[in-house]
Order: sequence, then C-alpha cells, then structure tokens
Amino acid sequence: MMSAIEEHNQVESSLLGLNGQKGLIFGVANHRSIAWAVASELRGCGVSVGLSVLDERAKKRAQPLIEDDPMSFIQQCDVRDDEDLTRLVRYARDQWGHIDFIIHSIAFAHIDDLNHPISACPREGFLDAMEVSAHSLLKVTHACLDELSPQASIVTLSYLGAEVAIPSYGLMGPVKAALEAEVRYLAAELGPRGIRVNTVSAGPLKTLAASAIPGFRQQLKESGDQTPLKRPITHQEVAHAVLFLCSPMSKGITGETLHVDAGHHAVRPR
Ligand code: NAD
Repeated sequence: MMSAIEEHNQVESSLLGLNGQKGLIFGVANHRSIAWAVASELRGCGVSVGLSVLDERAKKRAQPLIEDDPMSFIQQCDVRDDEDLTRLVRYARDQWGHIDFIIHSIAFAHIDDLNHPISACPREGFLDAMEVSAHSLLKVTHACLDELSPQASIVTLSYLGAEVAIPSYGLMGPVKAALEAEVRYLAAELGPRGIRVNTVSAGPLKTLAASAIPGFRQQLKESGDQTPLKRPITHQEVAHAVLFLCSPMSKGITGETLHVDAGHHAVRPR
C-alpha cells in the first residue's frame, strides 16, 4: 500500500508529466544547494538525475539523492574543464540514450572581488566569474546539444541584481545580466528545434554561494518584510518553479525569466 507522501508524489508527477524523464543537474554542493532541492523534487516525480558536482566531498554528500535509482548517477565536473564535461555528457548518453533537461545552478566569484566597488573589479576576477557563472551555460548547452531530446528544457538560476543595481551584489549583477541575455539568445537559437531555455530568478536563500555575497544576511532578513507576500521564499518553491519549466506544462514558455521571490521584483522600494 502507498503512503500519503508516495500518493501525493504520484499525483504531482503525473500532473507535471515528468515521470521517466532524465536530466543533468549542475551545482549540488550540499543539502542547502538550490540544485539539491531541485534534484530531490525531481526524484520524487520519478525522474532519473545525473548530478554534476565539483569535488569528491560534494559527491559523497549527494549520494542519498540517487541511491534508490540505478539510472541516476553522480559525476565530478568542473565546467571550466573540457574533458570533464565531455566525459559527463558521454556518460549520460551511454546511460540514458538522450537528455530531457539540463538544470544549470552554478555560480562563482572570488570573495575579494565581491567586496570591491564594481568599478574596481579586476579584469581577471571579472573574467573568472563570467566564465563559470555565465559562459558555462553556453558551454554546457553546446556539449549536450546532440544528446538533447526533442522538446528538451534548459533552466538556469539568476537573481534580481541582473535587472536592477543591488550594490551589495557587486560584479555578479553584470554577470547574471549576461546569463539572462544568453537565455534569450539560446531560446531564439534552439526554439526551432523545440528546445526551450528559461531562467528562474530566485529570492535570497541561505546557501554556500549566497553566504559569500556581502550583506546577504541583511537581504535575507529584509526579504520577509519587503515582499508582497511578507515572507521569504523557500528552496522548495524555487525547485517547484524549475520543475514546472522542465515539464510539458510550460511547453509554450521560452526565453522567460520567472521570478520566484515572493513578488519582490514587482514592488518599490525593493
Ligand atoms: P551553492 O553554493 O549551493 O551552488 C553553487 C554551485 O556552483 C556549487 O555546487 C559549486 O560547486 C558550483 N560551482 C562553482 N564553480 C564551479 C565550477 N567551476 N564547475 C562546476 N560547478 C561549479 O549555491 P546556490 O545558491 O544553490 O547557487 C545555485 C545558483 O542559484 C547560482 O547560480 C546562484 O547564483 C543562484 N541563485 C542563488 C540565490 C540564493 O540566494 N542562494 C538567489 C538567486 C540565484
């Protein structure tokens, strides 16, 4: 007999039409990662996931996410490394035959560079942040292109600092603006093949990457009062939006930035 949770998952999964799909998720560092919440929700919908992690420690931590599914796997991959990426995509192809979706949930900037005023951001730090946080979306998409199923979905994660200047977000603002523009250009390029590309712009959530942003704690504290919903968002709410964008329920949507920030983007003062 099915438990109430299993029953709920089955209903959710059949509504979304994701059961049996297979996709790559980049960016699981630990249980606080947005990618963790996404992977966990997807597994609950009967989806097989290929988790791309940066190091051995993350690989160990992520093990519980895949252990009940022989079709799911974890691979180490630094997106700057061409060989890592080729190995990962080859593994996914051999395991699954095709890839139904890609979740790009990675970002990086040197901590020192986040503390500079934006005008003083050194060239090298700017390029490193751009390479890992923005160019990697193009690189991952290109590497997976031949393996993507018709009607595949690609989703990346961004933040409001891409659209308006949030001084504490520093150089990540321009980097995320580039990422969101990439999404629109990829949507235009891949739309004729039926492939959709979208962004989820999330409100502040306590994660490893976010804790490096100066003033993040303050933003997190304020996000409750300053949003129309008068509360912060949750990891699960972000994950649900990602699942929606992966599912056929959103098949008319591409090139979109979907805000999951309790309405923060829509009101002033922000
Ligand atoms: P996180 O620290 O859990 O995830 C960031 C991931 O990027 C980590 O898994 C890390 O290993 C990975 N990464 C960094 N450099 C890499 C490289 N060279 N190759 C491969 N992977 C690499 O933090 P998170 O908050 O879950 O971040 C996920 C995404 O969500 C990021 O794009 C972030 O900007 C975005 N986001 C976060 C928030 C927030 O408040 N947490 C809000 C909006 C958007």
